[in-house]
Parts: sequence; structure tokens; C-alpha cells
Amino acid sequence: MTETPGLNITQSHHTLPAGVKLPIYMDNHATTPLDPRVLAAMMPYLTGIFGNAASRNHSFGWEAEQGVEKAREQIARLIGATSKEIIFTSGATESTNLALKGVAEMYKERGNHIITQVTEHKATLDTCKRLEKSGFRVTYLPVQADGLIDLEDLKRAIVTEGPDKTILVSIMYANNEIGVIQPIQEIGKLCHEKGIIFHCDAVQAVGKIPVNVLTDNIDLMSISGHKLYGPKGVGALYVRRRNPRVQLAEQINGGGHERGMRSGTLNVPGIVGLGAACEICQNEMAAEAVREQELRDYLRAKLENALDYTQVNGNMEHHLPGNLNMSFIYVEGESLLMGINDIAVSSGSACTSATLEPSYVLKALGLGDDVAHSSIRFGLGRFNTRAEVDYVADKIIDVVQHLRELSPLYEMVKEGIDLSKIEWAAH
Ligand SMILES: *Cc1c(COP(=O)(O)O)cnc(C)c1O
Repeated sequence: MTETPGLNITQSHHTLPAGVKLPIYMDNHATTPLDPRVLAAMMPYLTGIFGNAASRNHSFGWEAEQGVEKAREQIARLIGATSKEIIFTSGATESTNLALKGVAEMYKERGNHIITQVTEHKATLDTCKRLEKSGFRVTYLPVQADGLIDLEDLKRAIVTEGPDKTILVSIMYANNEIGVIQPIQEIGKLCHEKGIIFHCDAVQAVGKIPVNVLTDNIDLMSISGHKLYGPKGVGALYVRRRNPRVQLAEQINGGGHERGMRSGTLNVPGIVGLGAACEICQNEMAAEAVREQELRDYLRAKLENALDYTQVNGNMEHHLPGNLNMSFIYVEGESLLMGINDIAVSSGSACTSATLEPSYVLKALGLGDDVAHSSIRFGLGRFNTRAEVDYVADKIIDVVQHLRELSPLYEMVKEGIDLSKIEWAAH
């Protein structure tokens, strides 16, 4: 790591509040720590109960299967489904691949057209790109400046007749960068009126806010274990069985597990963990959301009171309780991250190979590259405390103020110079 001359901000001079340990994890949209209660539920299945859930002729298999079936019910209960509608996978990326490719292949006689949006997770976007290569037509809906899609855009994009008939819409429940919650009920209703299958990537929503596949009109829904305090490498796909009954062309062959939709020996401890994680969320979600939202609003207020030229990204009314995405304008993103290296957050830059690209989600909201690069995603979660939020806020304020003291742009703005009127020399 290079050190900026005369700037020693990587060294913290704050006294640590009691109970705060560094580094602080505040990146709960990237992954969540395993809840110790989830680990406790999994432990027996990592040791004594090691059977193959597909072994039908002895108790080792039956016990494993019981664990799996209990998990299926715990997940189904959290989302308003029945246990037969839950298909286990290796994670939400696989769930989404199965949903989109499975529908495209199964219903290709019906039509050729798929609709999604530009701010989806790469699991959806890259799968759509792949489907385009195999001949499907994909519409990528834009989002408005607040991150919400315009339902009129969706209505206009739907094709109801001909070979280009729309067969599938895939819109995420809540965005992993900006926390914006889409109008899922309305999208689902529109799809059902037109006989279109609706897939929803609900990874960031399930376990955080109420999600119900029936009232939300969802036909297929991707879930991930490690985003709701369960283990990594396990996920589920909800597949609707009635009104309408959705069929999928299987994408992994061999053995016919999971009602033929996803072959492969089940990850029993992982599945048990996902189930336990869902049950905890079901019991604690309401109170947890209130607590996280209070912490989030407290963090935001603290930053906004101390700093000028900040901006909050994404619609804050339709928003995940634990998410705050904030730009610190006139601060160079990389320097900011380096200055807060005892805090785990995400920046508005996506590291793709050697280059530092601004986040495509923030760009879709209309943010310029500089502002996108100066953005931080705070992901508050179950185990974050108020003392941690205090430390994080103080540290960010410190570093931003420090960097701005060194910023000629910020100086000019403070002196009232209109930056947009300046002609910069080409380089
Ligand atoms: C993490 C994430 C995924 C991918 O989930 P994995 O289980 O890690 O494959 C998909 N969509 C969203 C919105 C996510 O946040």
C-alpha cells in the first residue's frame, strides 16, 4: 500500500470505545457472519449425522433426510411457500442460473423475450448475457435516479404476441449496493395478468424484511444462506407449484435429486444451517429491522451533520433497514478506503481486473465516475453495535476532512468557483 506523503491517516488516533474490536465488519451485504445458533444447529450434521439424505434403506440416511425436510419447512414458512416448492442449490448464483436458464429452455416455444433491469446482481446479468448468446432477446430496463424502476417502462417492454413474446421477467427484491426495494407486488401482479413468469432475486430481502411469495406474486425466487447469517455455499430456489405451476428444464443432470430439478448429493449441514438461519430471522426480523434502521439513521445523521457535500444514494423510503450508500464528494475513493482500513465496508468502485471501474449500479442512477468512486456502502447487520457506528462515523469524518484539506477541487468549491465553468487542460 502506498502512503500519501504528509498524510498519516492509516494510523488510528481514536481511543477505542469499550467493547469495540478492530477491524469492524460493516459489509453485511457482501456476506454475513455465521450466527452461533446456526452453527450449533449444524454441528450434529457435520459429525454424527453424516448420512446421505438420498440413502433410503438405513437410519443414517433417514436422519439426514429429516434434517433436510425440517429445513425445507423453515425456509418455506419464512417466505409463505410450501416445503415442496423449495429446491436446494449451492447458492443464489446457482438458483438464478437454474431459474432463468430453466425457464428459457422450458418455455422457448412460448416466446423468446426476457426482461430484467440494469442494476441486477451479476448472477442475473451474466446469465441473461449468456441467454442472449443462445438466441433470446433480453430487455434491460433502466432505473430512475432513485434506483426504482418505472412500472410504465416495464409495461411498455412487455411483448404479448408473436415469436418475441415475453416469457420471463427477473427483477430483484432489494439491491445489494443501494438497498432500494422495488415494487415487487405490482411487478408480480403485472406479470401474472400477462401470463409471464416472474423470477425475483430476493437475496438481500429475505430475512430482513417481510417477503411472501403469494402476496408478492413471485413464481421463482433466489435465496442465499450466507446473506442471512447462515453458511456459505448453500442456497435455495423457490419454484411455484400452483397458479401457475412453473416447470424448469434442469441444468445439472445426475440422479434426479430435488424433484429432478437439481441433481447432486445434498449439502446436509449447509441446508440445516440455512433452515435454522431462516427460523431465527422469522422470529427476530421485525425487531432487528427497527434496531438496524435506527443505527443506520444515526450513522447518516452523524455524517451529514459533520460533513458538507455528501449525498445519499437510492430512494430512502423503499430501503433496506441496514443499508446506507453515501457519496463523499471531492474525496478520492481509494484514499478514503485506505484511510479507513480498520473498517470493512464496500466502495463505489468495482475491482475488475487491473482497472478500478465505477460501480455500474451507481452509474445507472446517473452518478458521475468521480462521485461513484467517492461512495461508500455501509452494510449494518445483526452484530453491529452503536459503539461501532460511533467509531466508524468519527473515523470517516476525520479522514474525509483530512483528505479535503488536501483537495484543490474542494478548496475551489469552498471559494465559490463554479467547477462546471472551468475548462480543464486536456491530458
Ligand atoms: C450475494 C448475492 C447473490 C449471489 O449469492 P451467492 O449465494 O453468493 O451465489 C445474488 N444476488 C444478490 C442480490 C446478492 O447480494
